[in-house]
Amino acid sequence: MKDWYCKMIDVDVLIVGGGIIGCSAARELSKFNLNVVLMEKETDICSGQSKANTAIIHGGYDAKPGTLKARYNVRGNRMFGRLCKELDVPLRWNTSLVLAFSEKDVPQLEALRQQGIRNGVTGLSIIGRDEINRREPHVSKKTVAALLSKQSGILSPFKFTIANAENAAENGVVFHRNAEVFGIKREESKWIVKSTIGTFRAKAVLNCAGVYTDTFNNQVSAVRYEILPRRGQYYLLDKKYAKQFHASIFQLPTHMGKGTVISPTVDGTVLVGPTAEDIMNRDDTRTTVEGLKKVFSSGKKIWEELPLQDAIKSFAGVRAHCNQNDFILGEAPDAPFFFNALGVESPGLTAAPAIALDLARQVSERLHATCKMDFQPFHHSIPTFEGMREKQKRRICTEHPGDEVIVCQCEGVTRWEIREAIRRPVGARTIDGIKRRVRAGMGSCQARLCAIQINEILEEELTSTFAHTALKFK
Ligand SMILES: Cc1cc2nc3c(=O)[nH]c(=O)nc-3n(C[C@H](O)[C@H](O)[C@H](O)COP(=O)(O)OP(=O)(O)OC[C@H]3O[C@@H](n4cnc5c(N)ncnc54)[C@H](O)[C@@H]3O)c2cc1C
Repeated sequence: MKDWYCKMIDVDVLIVGGGIIGCSAARELSKFNLNVVLMEKETDICSGQSKANTAIIHGGYDAKPGTLKARYNVRGNRMFGRLCKELDVPLRWNTSLVLAFSEKDVPQLEALRQQGIRNGVTGLSIIGRDEINRREPHVSKKTVAALLSKQSGILSPFKFTIANAENAAENGVVFHRNAEVFGIKREESKWIVKSTIGTFRAKAVLNCAGVYTDTFNNQVSAVRYEILPRRGQYYLLDKKYAKQFHASIFQLPTHMGKGTVISPTVDGTVLVGPTAEDIMNRDDTRTTVEGLKKVFSSGKKIWEELPLQDAIKSFAGVRAHCNQNDFILGEAPDAPFFFNALGVESPGLTAAPAIALDLARQVSERLHATCKMDFQPFHHSIPTFEGMREKQKRRICTEHPGDEVIVCQCEGVTRWEIREAIRRPVGARTIDGIKRRVRAGMGSCQARLCAIQINEILEEELTSTFAHTALKFK
């Protein structure tokens, strides 16, 4: 019992989980005069579902009308344009197609279109073979019709999540990584949150722990939920296919989800997947021979010449599928000041801005928080060395000789960009963290050639950061 109180830290709001929901909520909450901390159990933020998904901003025709998935999908979709400008994150409205391979499937396309209209989606139409061919000449010739959604897009989920976190940190939110929360209980009108880095006393808690959201909800509320982990496996194809497809291309959805997609990424690679497999272990992000075979055979229905030999990587993500088959959002009915973002599976990336906005609004109202007058909405992402003006390049060469040297040959990433990724607020601490921020190691060799150099830079930078921190606390 006494143990619960050692190293007690008082905060207004504690967010559990640094995925897209936790980081977006952190940014929204940083608009208020609140003392906010975010706890992430992994070495870096964006380590759960938010790092392993199809990266599509869904139009909103797929979710059942009346569900929270439908409502937040459509609202979130409309927020990305402004947010990506504020956060300096590339976004492409590349449209999407759902294909029908036989005449008997066409009524299902029309049903999806009608469903989309009921959800408030605009820009939906059914197109025929000629129009499909004009838009996407590499799609299977067996396609007879498609649902076109003009309001669909793609972005880097890593960059968007990290930009939200960095901007939240710039506006005062404190991020703790390697900080696992393992117990939450209510005492004297506060939440006592026990973690691997100490015990916190919070006025409000935001449960954004992805596949573990049910665990925390069930610790504090009698209204119980269960997360049924559902894995999705992918292939990622080389950038030489960057121009192969313009749109994200779907097959008709099934009861398990949206089916296999072929989608370009904003970085020029092509995603093929995901599978939908119910699994027992929430952390099981392994790929399997059987799963990848399914991705290949299903992907070939869309792209008959699918060039598997040019896959540079396979990976998997685990969806936080809730037994209620919808998002569970907001304050738990019997746990005051405990807010859930539970069961946020697809279209959770699309819905994230709207979920974060509503959660922050609810929390700030309950805590009677006032708006911060000096909130800074604009964030600058790390520029590529190649894209810089000559004057800026010369300055870096003079001030930091050697930093202009390219470390990642595949993606053309310099030493300077890698250092920046480490030095940023909520900066990278691992090779994976560097990959997600500046793409060093994301190319065709998958860091085989640059991992040692990246590690050396990490070691140099982090040793000096820790030495500096140690000096400050001496
Ligand atoms: C295969 C797949 C494809 C998808 N495709 C799309 C798509 O194309 N478009 C779309 O809109 N959505 C898509 N989604 C859904 C989207 O990725 C998720 O809805 C979204 O990423 C959920 O974000 P989150 O922050 O809730 O969860 P997560 O990203 O999982 O974040 C939760 C975080 O909590 C941390 N955590 C857990 N337990 C603890 C603890 N005890 N203490 C501290 N931290 C903890 C985890 O480490 C993790 O970082 C897809 C999902 C998957 C898996």
